[in-house]
Amino acid sequence: MSKPVSINTSKNTTPVHVIFPASIEWQTDDAGHKVPISGEFGDVYFSQADGLAESRYVFLENNQLPERLANLAAKQCFTIAELGFGTGLNLLATWQLWRQLRLAHPHLASARLHFITTEKHPIPLGDLTRILSLWAQRAPELAALIERLLASYPPLIAGCHRLNFIEDNLTLDIWLGDASDSLSSLGFESRLKRPYIDAWFLDGFAPSCNESLWATSIFSQMQRLSCAGSTAATYSSAGIVKRGLQSHGFIIKKVKGFGRKREMLTAVMSEMSSLEKPLSTLSNKAPLPNHPNTAVIIGAGVAGLLTAWTLANHGISVTVLDKDAPLAGASGNPRALLAPNMTPIHHVYEHLHSIGYLYSGRLYRYFNQQVALQKSPLIFEQTGTLDLLVKTNIGTAQIADYPDNMATTISTQKAQDISGLEHKDLANNLYLPQSGLVNPQALKTVILAHPNIAYQQLNITDIKETENHVMLTGFAEDKNASQSSLTVTADHVVICAAYESHQLDKRIVKCRTIRGQLSWFTPTAEQLSKLPKLPLKYSGYCAPFIGQNGDAALNPIRENQPQFLLGASFIDGDTDIDIRRADNQQNYDKLIEDMPELSSILPNDISTWQARAGIRTQTLDYHPLVGLLTQSKRLWTLSAVGAKGYAIAPICAEALADMMLGCFTPLSAAMLARLLPNRARLHNAHTHKTRPSVI
Ligand code: SAM
Repeated sequence: MSKPVSINTSKNTTPVHVIFPASIEWQTDDAGHKVPISGEFGDVYFSQADGLAESRYVFLENNQLPERLANLAAKQCFTIAELGFGTGLNLLATWQLWRQLRLAHPHLASARLHFITTEKHPIPLGDLTRILSLWAQRAPELAALIERLLASYPPLIAGCHRLNFIEDNLTLDIWLGDASDSLSSLGFESRLKRPYIDAWFLDGFAPSCNESLWATSIFSQMQRLSCAGSTAATYSSAGIVKRGLQSHGFIIKKVKGFGRKREMLTAVMSEMSSLEKPLSTLSNKAPLPNHPNTAVIIGAGVAGLLTAWTLANHGISVTVLDKDAPLAGASGNPRALLAPNMTPIHHVYEHLHSIGYLYSGRLYRYFNQQVALQKSPLIFEQTGTLDLLVKTNIGTAQIADYPDNMATTISTQKAQDISGLEHKDLANNLYLPQSGLVNPQALKTVILAHPNIAYQQLNITDIKETENHVMLTGFAEDKNASQSSLTVTADHVVICAAYESHQLDKRIVKCRTIRGQLSWFTPTAEQLSKLPKLPLKYSGYCAPFIGQNGDAALNPIRENQPQFLLGASFIDGDTDIDIRRADNQQNYDKLIEDMPELSSILPNDISTWQARAGIRTQTLDYHPLVGLLTQSKRLWTLSAVGAKGYAIAPICAEALADMMLGCFTPLSAAMLARLLPNRARLHNAHTHKTRPSVI
């Protein structure tokens, strides 16, 4: 059972962005089946008679999903929004239909289903497992999907949790929090295609039990997010529902209800009430207008690679260009520590580092599954991380608000056991069980192997945007270092060149450059037995790891050899990447200063240490740059990820791809505005003096 989250008691207010999980009660239905009841609202999650059949009838059939999904054009995305995720039964029924249709209609191979759902009181994983195991027995056709859903079920923290089921071209966004807040976070201003919802599943508890999902604020969000032809279906035909839909532009129709129920409602957004023209009349024979076919990514660091992979997954042919080589810059460290700087839980929904951490952990674990079959090195080693809370803006009282599987404080004894530290006071600590080390080389290998991605070395000298495409000119170097000029065109271009992005397009602001040098060495067997067994965060960070096949392509590291790394120096305004003894010394000093007992294990002889220096790029307000460039329709950037690239690039790449394709993003509209490449804050001379509390 997840612990109920209570927080902010000092202020004596109920914080909006804190999740109170559902309390589940059980009843026996007419057929003798156990059915879950919401403790908060006293209503059933699904029909006592046959929940799955009702879900298929009310939401799937009465939104005409079998026909509409079968008729999608190649690469078209169909978006469903559900009010009330509950047990996920509607999702599972829809997912199963989508799988069947994709098997029967080969043209759907490149089409996408985007299922956006909202939930204020998510069911704790233990209860959900019990509920869905019953469905797996009653409806074996759902069993495999149930297993996948449970394996990806997010921690119960406010905000959007994006789950991509890649083989099925299904994106599931679970927005935890009040539906009204979540719906108002959706959508963004765009010079390209604005996203809209194709079909609504209105599955709140009966209005008599809970009016909040049938409130005017919900219906007006539905109107804002719909276009002519968007449909809605609900089992309820209560007056409040009819009036709400009608007064917000929907034409309603009463139809026969499920089983013994007399009636239910379907609705369609009228052309007059909508600002948008319908796209849903497209047939599978029509090519999808404005869907990009090609993209070029400039820069093969972590931001560029993740952007390439995300666009490639949307069926776009991507060419990645780099003036040097993939991961030649700051992203090419031997390992990257994936462990967020935590924030109080009521800030998480707007804390890019935490949102990014949760998403990238899921993505890297997915990559691990892909490479496991080929026995290639893992992309992500989930080691757990112990943060000694030396440099942090969170204390143990605030850590206690988090679900234990995301962040917790462990006992001093356990902290000593896993860190090997005997004298350090470890009573205050933050343990992140799902954090660990990313292997950049392994990540690069899996991304560049994507069938829609090609890599080309090219030093770009000119970028020209026309009405229909972008033309790039540059020079490539062959093995003998002789140069040849090359021109590449693409529908869209994304500049992911860190601090050099500004040189490629002056609309991208000039950023701070911060030199960082990471150090590592091969410990003796005796040192290894006494050094920390897992990554530690203090005023720096350290981690043990074992060299893997492929490491040598980036750094002088031998396969199977144990290594111990320490990071990283921080020198503002420096763009030299020479290796400096002084930086190694800085990394050593930070370790010993925070954990003096390690000086007996690591004598101050750093002459044999290896190192790698890179330049991190940071904006004045610390947020990355993500989005379309001013006055452009085809030129984008994802840059300035600072030292957090492996945590934030994956979710930023998702948001960027969604904006390019006119789909709903996993980041709120407010967050997207904070990341805009041309946001006002970046041009405000005072910005750098006031560091934002939430990054
Ligand atoms: N669709 C679900 C399924 O397939 O199991 C059943 C949904 S159940 C009838 C209604 C859900 O709405 C509950 O899980 C409840 O917690 C959620 N809910 C109630 N009020 C809400 C609100 N204001 N915002 C978001 N979700 C809410």
